[in-house]
Amino acid sequence: MAADVIAQARQAGRTQLTEIEAKELIRAAGIPTTAIRLATTRKEAVERSREIGFPVVLKVVSPDVVHKSDVGGVKVGLNSAAAVERAFGDIMASVKLHQPQAKVMGVSVQTMARPGLEVIVGTSKDAQFGPVIMFGLGGILVEVLKDVSFRIVPIERRDARQMIHELKGFPLLQGYRGQEPANIPMLEDLLLKVSAFVDQRPEIKEMDLNPVFAYKDGLVAVDARVVLES
Ligand code: ADP
Ligand code: MG
Repeated sequence: MAADVIAQARQAGRTQLTEIEAKELIRAAGIPTTAIRLATTRKEAVERSREIGFPVVLKVVSPDVVHKSDVGGVKVGLNSAAAVERAFGDIMASVKLHQPQAKVMGVSVQTMARPGLEVIVGTSKDAQFGPVIMFGLGGILVEVLKDVSFRIVPIERRDARQMIHELKGFPLLQGYRGQEPANIPMLEDLLLKVSAFVDQRPEIKEMDLNPVFAYKDGLVAVDARVVLES
């Protein structure tokens, strides 16, 4: 199944998978993610929303758009058919305005995940070391403070444990001022699964799960990006 997704994208001449394809791959690798379906029309978006169940999130699906929110391509917390119809129109108009050349395949309709502690997992290929895996805390902690850890793939559980513990923001994962803690063993599992996945698939150049919402009893990848080797 994973091989099909990759083969299909290649056949279409794409090296960047859509979020729908990327989530299919990570789901097959045992990583929890949102339900997600493609809708190509306003009417379909409403139908998919009813199937998935409100509240939903709508996002632009385009192989040309890398940062969906930068082009107004993400609408969260949609609670009704009317809200979904409006969001569909707003996304289409906004993407057209910000990136007129982008080829838009439609929108993805997905489960609205309950808020959690945002973490990110990424992989890339180093010229010298080959695939490397990165872990960090989401939002400003990564963007401003660059609070991330790296290891060479493949990693073992001990490496995963260290990657998590060596973050300056580690106390946040333990629950800070009444915030829900993250489940550390489940985060270790996540890192091990991502490492094994890219280790077994040399055709993957880059992978980003940004963000993953971490809870005390689970986690869910709400965004996924995969780039194939060209
Ligand atoms: P981008 O391409 O801009 O990275 P994302 O898919 O990461 O777009 O969405 C932007 C933000 O919207 C995320 O950081 C997250 O906070 C929120 N978000 C995205 N998808 C969901 C979802 N399914 N459930 C809840 N929140 C979401
Ligand atoms: Mg993202």
